[in-house]
Amino acid sequence: MTASLTFLGAAGTVTGAKFLLESDESRLLLECGMFQGLRELRERNWTEPLPAPAKLSAVLLSHAHIDHSGYLPRLARDGFAGPIFCSPGTADLLAIMLPDAARLQEEEAEFRNRKGATRHRPALPLFSTDDAARALRLVKPVAFDREFSPAGGVEARLRMSGHILGASVVDVVAGGRRLVYSGDLGRYDVPVMRDPTAIEGADTLLVESTYGDRLHPADDGTAVIGEAVKRAAERRGWLLIPAFAIGRTQDLLYILRGLEEAGRIPRLPTYLDSPMGIEATVVYGRHPAEHDADTAKIEAAGKRPFAPSQFHLCRTTDDSKRVNGLDGPGVIIAGSGMATGGRVLHHLRHRLPDERTTVLFVGYQAAGTRGRLLRDGAERLRIFGEDVPVRARIMSTDALSAHADQAEILRWLGGFKRPPGMTYCVHGEPPAASALREAIERQLGWRCAVAGDRQRIDL
Ligand SMILES: [Zn+2]
Repeated sequence: MTASLTFLGAAGTVTGAKFLLESDESRLLLECGMFQGLRELRERNWTEPLPAPAKLSAVLLSHAHIDHSGYLPRLARDGFAGPIFCSPGTADLLAIMLPDAARLQEEEAEFRNRKGATRHRPALPLFSTDDAARALRLVKPVAFDREFSPAGGVEARLRMSGHILGASVVDVVAGGRRLVYSGDLGRYDVPVMRDPTAIEGADTLLVESTYGDRLHPADDGTAVIGEAVKRAAERRGWLLIPAFAIGRTQDLLYILRGLEEAGRIPRLPTYLDSPMGIEATVVYGRHPAEHDADTAKIEAAGKRPFAPSQFHLCRTTDDSKRVNGLDGPGVIIAGSGMATGGRVLHHLRHRLPDERTTVLFVGYQAAGTRGRLLRDGAERLRIFGEDVPVRARIMSTDALSAHADQAEILRWLGGFKRPPGMTYCVHGEPPAASALREAIERQLGWRCAVAGDRQRIDL
């Protein structure tokens, strides 16, 4: 019996995760992520179609983020019709995220065609909303910690990784060899999610290295969030928090509710202005078994962990526009997290010129985004073709990351009872993956390498 694994993405980069697991009996795809970010990466979605998708036995997913799942609609369009195995929480989140990703693809193609801004005529979406629906019909949720057989000769188990709802460490036995893949690894002692599950051992280990060269701030972000709310209350202004719909939004709501209950901030009207954020929050509430002990305690007391006391949902664009006419103080949580699009743009255009406004960034701001420009102190910002003066106070915290940092990855690895035969660092930019590899060799004395793009390994 033999089994091999080929790295088809998330090797030397953080997106496009796809690992092909081949054994005598089956061909299984572990992850089916989309490449994102720089154009040369995004083009790989087009130039590197997966060979013979119809002949794949199954897909196994760690979690719903698009860099791990976003290629599924394209795979289904290209002929894959087998099962897609993932946790129940991941299945629920995919139902929100894949149609949204398809709509973005369609809108972008339509925009390019209208503006003539394309080298390809006509510009096409990578996949359509029909393709997303086709992929969703293939999804087969499996409970955490239960052994199942995703394909002939392969046994698997999903273990909670604590990264976002549904996120899993994937534990697979193929060809008599045990492969453990960390997926995206969550953190210890953070709001809402449980700690990553400890694993005993593996023949081959794939470990993510997004923050393999970094340590997160020691604080948990609560103090900065509290300060931002108090500033808004004192000035009778608005606090705008651009936030990703899944994970970050629920963390924020949880922290705001907790600060209110502890009497550390005044109770302000809080608007969740994000249809996807609203749906994701419902999904988070539907899976209490994944919540940590503190969150469970709140639920056991009959309270809603993701609902501040004066909580309002903006489902429609009319709901969203109505907030423009309201006097502060209040809090608005809206996407997108880096202010590259979404409803937060309208609020920024409307509120940035007002010095009573506070803007709080709670996530990574990539170079070139409006979020980054504001964070770096821009005095004016281009929104919808207008030059908007920035008089608002800009605040930020890096404490709410959903990824383990180097120390937390090493803590999780420390839970192994024996060293894996071989460890590969995946899902990291080259400096981060190398730094983690060095730390693993130095501190644990394990055999470790950085996974190479398109490299094939024997398990
Ligand atoms: Zn992720």
